[in-house]
Amino acid sequence: MSRSEPPARAKPGRKRARSVREPAEKDTGSKAAVETRFSGIGIYSGIAVGPVAFAAEAPATVDRRTLQPAQVEPELVRLQEAVERSLRQLEKLKSRLALLSEDTQAEIAPLLDAYRQMLGPSRLLRQVTRRITEDRLNAEAAVLAEAETLAIRLAEATLSAGADAEEATSALRRAEEVREIGRRLVRNLMRAPFRSFSGMQAGAVLVAEQLRPADAALIDPARIAGVVMDEGGVTDHTAIMLRALGIPAVLGVAGFSGRARSGAQVVVDGATGTVTLDPAPATLAAARHAVVDYARERQKLGRLRRLPARLSGGETVELQANLELPAELPLIAQAGAAGIGLLRTEFLFINSDRMPDEAEQERIYRAVIAAMGGDCTTIRVLDWGGEKHSEALSGIGFLGADQNPALGLRGLRLLLRHPEVLETQFAAILRASTEGPTRVLLPMVTTVGELQATREIYERVARKVRRKGVRLGDALPPLGIMVETPAAALGAEALGIEAEFMAIGTNDLAMYTLAVDRAATGVSALYEPLHPAVLHLIAHVTGVALRLRRPVSLCGEIAGNPLVVPLLMGMGLRSFSMNASAIPKVKQAVRHTSLDECRRLARRVMEESDTAEVLRLLTEFSQR
Ligand code: PEP
Ligand code: MG
Repeated sequence: MSRSEPPARAKPGRKRARSVREPAEKDTGSKAAVETRFSGIGIYSGIAVGPVAFAAEAPATVDRRTLQPAQVEPELVRLQEAVERSLRQLEKLKSRLALLSEDTQAEIAPLLDAYRQMLGPSRLLRQVTRRITEDRLNAEAAVLAEAETLAIRLAEATLSAGADAEEATSALRRAEEVREIGRRLVRNLMRAPFRSFSGMQAGAVLVAEQLRPADAALIDPARIAGVVMDEGGVTDHTAIMLRALGIPAVLGVAGFSGRARSGAQVVVDGATGTVTLDPAPATLAAARHAVVDYARERQKLGRLRRLPARLSGGETVELQANLELPAELPLIAQAGAAGIGLLRTEFLFINSDRMPDEAEQERIYRAVIAAMGGDCTTIRVLDWGGEKHSEALSGIGFLGADQNPALGLRGLRLLLRHPEVLETQFAAILRASTEGPTRVLLPMVTTVGELQATREIYERVARKVRRKGVRLGDALPPLGIMVETPAAALGAEALGIEAEFMAIGTNDLAMYTLAVDRAATGVSALYEPLHPAVLHLIAHVTGVALRLRRPVSLCGEIAGNPLVVPLLMGMGLRSFSMNASAIPKVKQAVRHTSLDECRRLARRVMEESDTAEVLRLLTEFSQR
């Protein structure tokens, strides 16, 4: 029901990861549901009002295959892996229970125990194993068939024994639990998104325990008003996708999916990070007003589109857009972005069961470059990491089985192990670069050696592309690096000599500096991109880049926060790339600020050793 903008008012670094149940109003009618308010992490400010809808988690049919005798053993291993993954997920859920109110805990804990039992030496798993070994059925089909058989038997046994209403209800619930664990197993066996959003009522609020970035990429923002998720953090890739789609969302609302009922009204406030289930009439009316006010505010900001991003003293600042999905292109034009500062190419691989070839990639890059009408497009080569999954990549044995994927083969490291993927991508980008100004960006660089090895590949691919008759011009599109690890930040001097430009990625820089997983709800309160240690690294990289005369920009989520941008300008940064819909607010902040004020602010902030004090100073500055 509403569109909105990035968490401009959400204070960076201050997380509301706790889920608090606060009855906000007394239950006035005897049967009316009591309004209940939950807190989480606001991802995209803006208000959504709509009925709760759960994504259908398992397809009605999965592939049914007969296994060759030699395939039985590997299939059992796959089943075991899916069981272990499911158990880990349940363990994680259980660890979150402590955050919930006692009655919610009492409701959910026995359910989790029942699930865990079914994943132990249970009848369900014995029968699934039998179907794989004796009937030679593939694991997904065996699980679904067996879960359904068991569920029917459970329900029938109780009903035929003349159970009373309470027993019958409990039998039906147990049957549903068996089906649910079956769906979880299938989901983990397939390791691919297969949620179905298409059948959802238009204007619904999507509620899920967890959505992967690949799931989020399938959401149609014209149909889904808002999203509430039990898991997640402010800069994980699912959050970035939701922001890109412009959907008001609150993540990290522990236990919410267990409490919400399908069809119940819910208000999602992405600015404050609150979710109100069964809102009282007064709350509902206020939320509907807020939706209208919000739309008006957006319209007002829209008028800034044609005005330049200039400080009050006349100095220009470059405000570019990050692009996650091609569907965002119209938004980028509406926001008045000066090109694309970060095109995350993961979307090409994320929901695909085969590798996109050179021609297909070229077509997409060309369309994006053309749409920028002469402004530059910065294309980042594939940044594959732990939380994303692609059939296409696992099909060629691309994914490492790292225990700790964020510290494992991620980004450029992975591409250098599979140069064929990098070569195809380079060739496609180089071909498309004849369409307009283009830059090439490398993710997760930590050593000069990696950069040199990549440049060799880049130049070799360019020679090949030229030999095929493509006119690339004398200078190739600049090759730059993401600075998103402490190693890259502290080694910026050496890397900056080799790289043609630098883009500071504060999402990962904060994660690696603070040793806090950006996607983990349990530690989200510790994830502080404005921690002084992170700020000092940003200032250091900026100083080095300016000295080396290398173009430098910042493309982490903080670039879209108008509260933070004056500080970054005070450090010397003049180029920011952000979620397109954040551009008007950031532009407004830029136009109301002078460089002197920014420099004074930066000097003052850099003396601080406490994130809360940094936030206080930034807030005070914005209210001056
Ligand atoms: C970052 O790490 O700040 C960044 C922009 O890259 P991503 O969010 O895609 O990891
Ligand atoms: Mg990153």
